Amino acid sequence: MKAKIDTTLCEGHAKCMEAAPAVFEVRDDDLSHILVDDIPESERDRVLRAVRTCPRAAISTED
Ligand code: SF4
Repeated sequence: MKAKIDTTLCEGHAKCMEAAPAVFEVRDDDLSHILVDDIPESERDRVLRAVRTCPRAAISTED
């Protein structure tokens, strides 16, 4: 699984980081950054929760 952040939508709310701290990191630029290229199966549920809770719908995933 891979995840992508649409930086034109992201506003740094950090809901993604709360849901999946091993995958998303909001930095000083107020944007979320993906920490892992190939997201392990063990993180899938957390990443999908991040997708659902992002208030800007800025996260997309692909398998
Ligand atoms: S929750 Fe969404 S808007 Fe907020 S930092 Fe994460 S990707 Fe960006």
